[in-house]
Amino acid sequence: MQTVFSKIIAREVPAHIVYEDDDVIAFLDIIQATKGHTLVCLKEPFVDMMETPDDQAARLFKVVNRLTKAVDQAFKPEGITVISNNRAGAGQTVFHVHIHIIPRYETDGVTIKVKNHVHETGPDAYHKRAEAIRKAL
Ligand code: 5GP
Repeated sequence: MQTVFSKIIAREVPAHIVYEDDDVIAFLDIIQATKGHTLVCLKEPFVDMMETPDDQAARLFKVVNRLTKAVDQAFKPEGITVISNNRAGAGQTVFHVHIHIIPRYETDGVTIKVKNHVHETGPDAYHKRAEAIRKAL
C-alpha cells in the first residue's frame, strides 16, 4: 500500500532521516510527541506486524535496538517507550509497518495507560489464553 512513508522513502516527501540501509529507514516523527521521537520503518510496505515476515521483522528490530541506544545517548531521557500500533483498532494511522521510539521526560505529558485485570482473571483464563497463543504459533 502506498502511504506517506513510501513517499518519504522515495524522497517525494521531505523528512529528517536519521538512518537508512537496504531494508530499513528511520526518521523523526513529524509530531515529535517528545524531543527525539523517531519512527523506524521497513522499506517494503507491509501493512502491519501481522503481515510482516519474521526475517524482515528481525531486520527492523535490530535497527530499533540500535536507534533506541542512539536516542538515549543523544537526549539522555528519563526512559524510552518503544511501541507499535497495529491496525486502526490499536490506533495505527499510517498503514506501513513502523515502530515508535519515544524518549520520555519527567513532564512530557505522554499517557500510555493499561488497566490491571489481575483480580478478574481466574487461573483457567490464564491457562486458556496461554494455550491459544501456543497453538497459534
Ligand atoms: P501510527 O499512528 O500509525 O502509529 O503512527 C504514524 C505516525 O506517523 C504518527 O505519529 C504521525 O505523526 C507520523 N506521520 C504522519 N505523517 C507524517 C509525515 O508526513 N512525516 C513524518 N515525519 N511523520 C509523519
